[in-house]
This record gives sequence, structure tokens and C-alpha cells, in this order.
Amino acid sequence: MDTHESISSLQARLQQGETTSRDIVSTYLNRIEASNSELNALIHVDTDGALAQADAADKALAANPKTTDKPLIGLPVAIKANIAEKGQPLTCASKMLENFVAPYDATVVSKLKDAGAVIIGRANLDEFAMGSSTENSSSGVTRNPWSKEHIPGGSSGGSAAAVSAGYCAGSLGSDTGGSIRQPASFCGCVGMKPSYGRVSRFGLTAFASSLDQIGPLTLGVRDAATMLNVIAGHDELDSTSVPQDVEDFTQTLGEDIKGLKVGLPKEYFVDGMDPQVKSAVDAAIVQYSKLGAEIEEVSLPHTDYAIATYYIICTAEASANLARFDGIRYGARVDGKDPVELYSKTRGAGFGSEVKRRIMLGTYVLSSGYYDAYYLRAQKVRTLIRQDFQKAFEKVDILLTPTVPTPAFKIGEKSMDPLQMYLTDIFTISSNLVGNCGISLPCGFSENPELPIGLQLMGKSFEESKLLKSAYAFEQSTDWHQASPR
Ligand code: GLN
Repeated sequence: MDTHESISSLQARLQQGETTSRDIVSTYLNRIEASNSELNALIHVDTDGALAQADAADKALAANPKTTDKPLIGLPVAIKANIAEKGQPLTCASKMLENFVAPYDATVVSKLKDAGAVIIGRANLDEFAMGSSTENSSSGVTRNPWSKEHIPGGSSGGSAAAVSAGYCAGSLGSDTGGSIRQPASFCGCVGMKPSYGRVSRFGLTAFASSLDQIGPLTLGVRDAATMLNVIAGHDELDSTSVPQDVEDFTQTLGEDIKGLKVGLPKEYFVDGMDPQVKSAVDAAIVQYSKLGAEIEEVSLPHTDYAIATYYIICTAEASANLARFDGIRYGARVDGKDPVELYSKTRGAGFGSEVKRRIMLGTYVLSSGYYDAYYLRAQKVRTLIRQDFQKAFEKVDILLTPTVPTPAFKIGEKSMDPLQMYLTDIFTISSNLVGNCGISLPCGFSENPELPIGLQLMGKSFEESKLLKSAYAFEQSTDWHQASPR
């Protein structure tokens, strides 16, 4: 079996009886066995559970080969280890939750199970999803399948590496400031952040609740649409999930994009971008015009403030969300002579340095005397950024940008310099601040070393169908998505 077999191709072969879920799952498990100890994309593999789920899928398929109500039947998926899966470790890559086992399924996980998916393992991440390289993990760094010396991106680095290494047919990640799209870009796969409210966050360990969103990572755009079909929708367990009908996101795929208005935000095409990224994205722009799209320059004037705004809001929300890890409500307890000492010893021992940095920054920007100057002002700037996008979307259908200014960097290259690390998020964070949808898809490679380059498209909130159709048109007219790491 080809490493790069899409969900749709696997689905077809299963339904035609050409293969079985046990065969497919065994193949994926063999690959995991062969190289996961080196890549460290998955931090827990549920071998027995996956094989049992595969056998159940085969039984269901034998009874009814066209189980169309179960779009992912028999197919292996991996879940980022900050999303609850009942009975499986929910470590969030933190020593704090080293031995924590999820007592229930996140809504997205129960939806995947209802769709017949075989959950093969838990994917590595930056601790509590804070980071851009998967180096901040209590389970150790994940390596990029294209080059072992390079990071896979983050924080959903394990989810992206697992897809590109062929450890699963698709995976789930979470995206607070780019954590699905950026690793997808670095690992050469497709990563989609749905609009805020599109997918339930129930069972996702909260990092920054007004920004977090769960989404799929896959080999291709059609597979992303298929997975989004499964996980999207209102959930009464998450009051921020929007009670809006969910269309079939695969329906618009293949439609002509003649006349589609593609906006290039001029603030995103400035100096500092890696020349290889620039030329890959320029070629993608040419490709869009060949496909009949109308390319237009637009302006997002508050782009310069996005990083500062994001790192104030996300740290503020993180400091509140992570208060529950105190050794009493949650978290590996370290005893002390009184509750204050217990809290401080627990939190001192359980959190890694990036998480501590964020909690301190977040507590600072929320503290009295500084609240107005930082947190409140950041919220106002967030509104300005949102208005920039609203204005741009009055003129164009989608926005096209690089996903990240550079290809993947080397392990250790930025880990001692948080500011450099934060700067890699420049093109992805606005979409979280605004709440719109975004996708990263392969659009080229760098040379020496050969590393994937990603193209980002952003769409208006709840216009995932248009976004996916625009991405699909590009993907199908190029062959970047067909390459797989050696
Ligand atoms: N890299 C960003 C951060 O460190 C985004 C993380 C994310 O999306 N979870 O906050």
C-alpha cells in the first residue's frame, strides 16, 4: 500500500471489498512500529484497541459494504493529546497530567467513533498547545518526517508528522494561533482551522478559549472536507459552538473557480520572507490566475499589531484556564505544609518553562493597574484587526498568503529565543483573533534541505465550503500533495 493513500481512496477500496480494515490498520501499525521511536509523532499507540476497532469495522462492512452513514469506517486516525479520548492518556504533553486518563470522550472523538474511525494513537504536541515546534513537550521533541534534524512545527506537530509519515489516514489537531496550519505547512500536508464555533471544543483542554478551534490534518483537501463533515456542528456541551446547519463540505469540491476573487494582503508580502517561500507562493498566485481567479491586492493595516495582541490575549486566557491545575482539582500533586505551598510546589514541578512564562505574562496583563493598558487595549486592537478582515472580505472571496514566512527550522534553532518563536506565527494568528476559517496546503519545496512549503488560504467565517473549493482547485491542478517523505 502506498504511504500516501487518501481517505477517499482507502474508503473506496474498503467498500469494494479489495481490502479490510484489519489490513489497513496493520499496515499503519507496522509503519509506526518501524519509525515512531525515531520521529516521536505519537506518544501513545493503542495497538490492541485499534485492531479491535478494525475487526468491528470489518464486521460492519461485511454486513453492509456501503455503510455510507459511517464515512470513516475502518480508517486509522490519530488525536492530538490535548483532546479527551475516554480511557486514553490525556497528558497535554505536560508533567502536570503525566498520569491523567480521560474520563470521557470529547465531542469530536465521539463523532469520529460514530463515523467508524479507528483511533490508533495520541499525537505529540507542545505542552498545553503552547508553542510552534513541538519542542516544549514532556514526551520529547517530534522530528519532521522530511528531515530528522528539523522540527515538524507546532503545536500539533505530532498530528502533522503522523499524517505525513503515514501513521494514520488523518488526524485532529487544535489551532489557537496556527497550530494546525503551521505544522501542516512544515510537514507537507493539509491542515484546516474551521471558523470559531464550527466545531465543538467540548473535551479539548482549554488553552485560550476565545481562540481555540479543533480541525483536521490530512493528505489532501477532499479528506479535510470529509473529516470536517464528521466533526462539525452544534453541540449543546459547548455554548460557543454555533447552532447553524452544516452543509456537506465535499459538495463544492471540483467546482470551477473562474471569477473567484483572491486577495493578497500587502502587509503579508514584505521583506523578511524566505525567498524560496516567496517564489513558491508567487507560483501559486500565477496558478490561481491560470485557473481563472481574479487576483487583487488588499490591505490588512493592523497586521503589525497581531502578534502582540495575540500574545496578550492568549496568555491572559491561558493564565485563567490553567488555574485548575493546582494539585487539588487537577494535576500531579506535590505536597506542602499548607495549601499555598502545595499549589506552588505542584505548579512549579508540573509546568514546563514556556507554560510558566505564559501564565506569568497572562497574570501580569490581567492584574489591576495593567489590565487597561494591556488586556483591554489588546481587545480593542482585536476589533480593529477584525474590521480589517471584514473590509477585505467585502472586496474578495478568499485571502491568499504564505502559511509561515520560512520552511521548518532546525531542532534547537529557536527554542532558547521565545520572541523568534512567536514571530513564526505572524501569518496564522489573525485568523484566530478574527474567528474566520483558514487552511494550509502544500505549494512547493525548499532546496537543501528539501522541506515542504505551505500556502495559506483564509475565508470568511462559516464559508468553509468556498475555502475548501478554492484549495481543492489549486491542489488538483498541481502535484505538490503527492510527494511523500522518503
Ligand atoms: N504558536 C502559537 C502559540 O504558541 C499557536 C499555538 C496554537 O495554535 N495552539 O501560542
